[in-house]
Amino acid sequence: MLNTEQSPKWLTADRKSCMIALFERSQGFCIFGEKPCTNPELHHYGYFVEDLIKDWKADDRAAIEALWKAESLAIHKLGERRYPVRGRFSNISKDIYFAEQPQFYVTGLSISGLTFEPFASVRLSSSYIHLFVSLGDTLKTLSKNKRRKAIRYSKALPKDIEDNVNAIIRQAVRHYIDH
Ligand SMILES: [Zn+2]
Repeated sequence: MLNTEQSPKWLTADRKSCMIALFERSQGFCIFGEKPCTNPELHHYGYFVEDLIKDWKADDRAAIEALWKAESLAIHKLGERRYPVRGRFSNISKDIYFAEQPQFYVTGLSISGLTFEPFASVRLSSSYIHLFVSLGDTLKTLSKNKRRKAIRYSKALPKDIEDNVNAIIRQAVRHYIDH
């Protein structure tokens, strides 16, 4: 019998179903469905989930901290200039606006719980709009350790990868604003 009260704190219902889905998909082997698997020590269910759980625990610790940070940031940002939300830009004001200040801030990198692809969360300047931009394969060439540090601790990415990531984000932001 499953006793929820004895479940560890990190094991939320979402995460539980995520693990079940991963197991069903992989049958204990490569969670990306590779045959043969190119990297069993990263991809095979047991190893993958072990890492995933570590990440979840770290996420939970970071989330508490992030909440505090977000709170104090929000207080400091109250003075920041507001701008009409999407769809209310004229072309001219849009150009002036972009000339004046950065278009977006990257607030973090993360891994999708569904696709296991990295994504960037991006805040459009002076608005409440958040975009989640899928980064696809951009981080693939990083070692596992560097990727994790980039994601968990916002450690700097190597220049070429950072340029790549920024290009993807700029494109996504442009696309969002223009449509
Ligand atoms: Zn694999």
